[in-house]
Amino acid sequence: MNLILLGAPASGKGTQSIKIIKEFGFLHISTGDIIRSNINNQTEFGIKVKKISESGKLVPDSLIINMVSEHLKNLKSGNLIWDGFPRTIFQAESLDVILKKNNSKIDLVINFDVLETKIIERVVNRRICTKCGESYNLISNKPKTNGKCNLDNADLYIRKDDTLEKIKVRLEQYKTSTMPLINYYKKSGKLIKIDANENEETIWTKVKGLLNGNY
Ligand code: ADP
Repeated sequence: MNLILLGAPASGKGTQSIKIIKEFGFLHISTGDIIRSNINNQTEFGIKVKKISESGKLVPDSLIINMVSEHLKNLKSGNLIWDGFPRTIFQAESLDVILKKNNSKIDLVINFDVLETKIIERVVNRRICTKCGESYNLISNKPKTNGKCNLDNADLYIRKDDTLEKIKVRLEQYKTSTMPLINYYKKSGKLIKIDANENEETIWTKVKGLLNGNY
């Protein structure tokens, strides 16, 4: 099965991906995570995309599609969550072609619908564990000790693009390049919208229901 999680930055795609993986054993393809790992490891690709990605703008389609194709070569077969890809119509069309070559297709697209005010509040208050990647929110899900992860006591960090200035750029990119995908997948009858303004457990109940076929 190929599941696409569609939504604005900080709409909860990453958080719900972790839950889906635990419950249903999907494999996770997060283009944002792959990019950040390349940046941290200073690969040739990472060095090339660091500036544009950390500015909040989208990495050019050709580079992203190449990155995804390479990533797929090293992936074992299984159900896939596409998180943060596709993000443009061109990427969506390319994904259709890639999947077709593998006798596969998109099965379900969940669109996480969140208010812009909520997104900004989530982004500026997000803190992430340097060791395990657990995500916190200084308002709704505070770490027990300031600056430390509840699970392993490692330091928390702020993503380079989680600033007020950068989230404005990311939201602009989302509106112009990614929002058209809502219609693209609506037309194919595969899109389901969920209200993702609520807390992560409430959203999880809905996502789990969808994946159990109760929709
Ligand atoms: P978020 O959804 O919270 O904005 P991601 O972790 O998905 O964050 O992506 C972080 C950044 O990585 C994006 O702002 C962009 O620069 C780059 N990126 C990730 N996925 C794509 C993609 N499919 N196409 C172009 N750029 C991407």
